Amino acid sequence: MSQYRMLGIFAHPDDESRIVGGALARYADQGISVSLLVATRGEAGSCGEPPLCDSEDLAQFRERELREACEILGVSDLSILDYQDGTLEDVDLDELTGHCVAAIRRQRPHVVLTFGPEGRTLHPDHIVIHKAATAAFHIAADPEAYPDDGLPAHAPEKLYYHVVPESITEQASWRFPTQPDREVTLVLDVRPWITQKQRASNEAHRSQAHDLIFKGITDELRWELLSTEHYVLAATSGRPIPASEHDMFSGIDE
Ligand SMILES: [Zn+2]
Repeated sequence: MSQYRMLGIFAHPDDESRIVGGALARYADQGISVSLLVATRGEAGSCGEPPLCDSEDLAQFRERELREACEILGVSDLSILDYQDGTLEDVDLDELTGHCVAAIRRQRPHVVLTFGPEGRTLHPDHIVIHKAATAAFHIAADPEAYPDDGLPAHAPEKLYYHVVPESITEQASWRFPTQPDREVTLVLDVRPWITQKQRASNEAHRSQAHDLIFKGITDELRWELLSTEHYVLAATSGRPIPASEHDMFSGIDE
């Protein structure tokens, strides 16, 4: 069992599977402790096509789906906050940041993983989580910040943003912001874990499975696009940021 720990901070059930499912499964498979903080239960989403539950039961239904996905991916610890799906723009950012700080201090991760500044699809909830997780990464080490959580301060070593590289728009009709390929610091091959990623995305999160990632392309190309995840090393606890890396835990002492 590795001594390394990783924490993903995301907005909705299914973000963890569809967006970073390969990284979570890969590192869990390597014996790394992978935990997850999700801000909402995704009740503003679809009940499925055809519907799998009534809309008033969707929060509960999606929480169950999320727990199943965590089992599939090997996420060992899941925390869900009680925010309403679709409202994160209106919540107190300091309070949300405090929840992220508490999760960092509780899990004591080496690596924190979240959305890039565009929140992948410009979803306001994703963008707010990006801001809160980024702020939390920087202040969790300050014992004077959020002292009321009663947890010892902790400085994670690396903060990664998931991004979509520009080159993908040449292959798939991706209509959201992309990252210039030269700015991507980590291209993670997740082929050995793509079955887990697909099962978590489509079997566990079955209410959302009709909403395909990368629409209007062949299954082969979708497979190819999903088999690689792209990240930017956005911040560290003092170490220099290399132009490229092969692993999120490279350079970190166990
Ligand atoms: Zn989402």
